[in-house]
Amino acid sequence: MTDPVLLSPPDVGPLEESSVLDALRSGWVAPAGPDVEAFEREVAERVGCGHAVALSSGTAGLHLALLAIDVRPGDVVVVPTLTFVATANAVVYTGAEPVFVDCEPATGNLDPDLLAELLRDLRAGGRRVAAVIPVDMFGACADYTRILPLCAEAEVPIVVDAAESLGATHVGRAAGSFGRAGVFSFNGNKIITTSGGGMLVSDDADLVARCRYLSTQARQPVPYYEHTDVGYNYRLSNLLAAVGRAQLRRLDDMMARRRQLRELYAKLFAAVPGVRVLADEDTAANCWLTTIVVDPAAAGWRAAELGAHLGAQDIETRPVWKPMHLQPVFAGRRALLSGTAERLFTDGLTLPSGSAMTEVQVARVLTEIERFLQCR
Ligand SMILES: *Cc1c(COP(=O)(O)O)cnc(C)c1O
Repeated sequence: MTDPVLLSPPDVGPLEESSVLDALRSGWVAPAGPDVEAFEREVAERVGCGHAVALSSGTAGLHLALLAIDVRPGDVVVVPTLTFVATANAVVYTGAEPVFVDCEPATGNLDPDLLAELLRDLRAGGRRVAAVIPVDMFGACADYTRILPLCAEAEVPIVVDAAESLGATHVGRAAGSFGRAGVFSFNGNKIITTSGGGMLVSDDADLVARCRYLSTQARQPVPYYEHTDVGYNYRLSNLLAAVGRAQLRRLDDMMARRRQLRELYAKLFAAVPGVRVLADEDTAANCWLTTIVVDPAAAGWRAAELGAHLGAQDIETRPVWKPMHLQPVFAGRRALLSGTAERLFTDGLTLPSGSAMTEVQVARVLTEIERFLQCR
């Protein structure tokens, strides 16, 4: 079939090409160099954080953030059940226990009321809650207005999984800038990409220095190889940082394009009963992915049926993250549930949202959706 449409492919062009070529020709091919340092400065500035460390992935950033705030084996870390598995995996790497909590229907983000209840229960049970990791689902910030005071009162530090939300804001504050540390992903499908990569940001210079140290095999600053801790090889290549710098310069344009796509979908579905757009009231989201939620009773069709129709036309869609409490790898883990995440998993469908989509592709996707709706 002609011209397949992907969900969120990388959007790279001449700017990335010249940036990576300059880096290559400069001889800085190592996981250190001027582009790494500049990329760290530029992301920190964009987010309004004092410090940043570039890393090989967002997952690495979450792992190091948890280590740096002293999450230990036997501790509990609260994780939304609706997220990508990396959030929960990072907790398991530290030896701590992820405890899952359900989300709000409107956004798919961590439900503050359930969080409050869970923190009370865990404390009553005598468990040390070492961290809460809110996730900014599909690029819309979690409700930090409520989450920050809740966690402050319980004296639990926050590490923000901002893997999906670079460029978004909440009440004027940048995604990633909440809590002790924030972590971005530059994986190939994210709003900006370095093919693979991540960054940890924080206002805490010591925390960032600790993460930088752990990311470089915990090498001591002496002429020979001396190690007093177990470290990790989590650094970002200078070549990839060069790609990231070019992408960051285009972030606002790419966000605007993704918002345009969201508005086209919203307009198309406005008159369709039983269909809503996830987090559609958040005008400060970065619109990384646009997800519709279909109430089959009101719509007369299921999200998966639209997904199958589009798939047959070579148009990629995806279900919302399968909740962590339903994952075989986390079977039997503790969870405080309302059923919302499971409903979003069954009734949600993520539509092509990439900023590199051509007008022809956009028209084809919208036409195919309309064709599907006419047959209902
Ligand atoms: C992509 C993603 C990650 C992991 O980032 P990587 O760079 O792929 O390691 C973590 N959490 C969420 C919510 C993500 O979407």
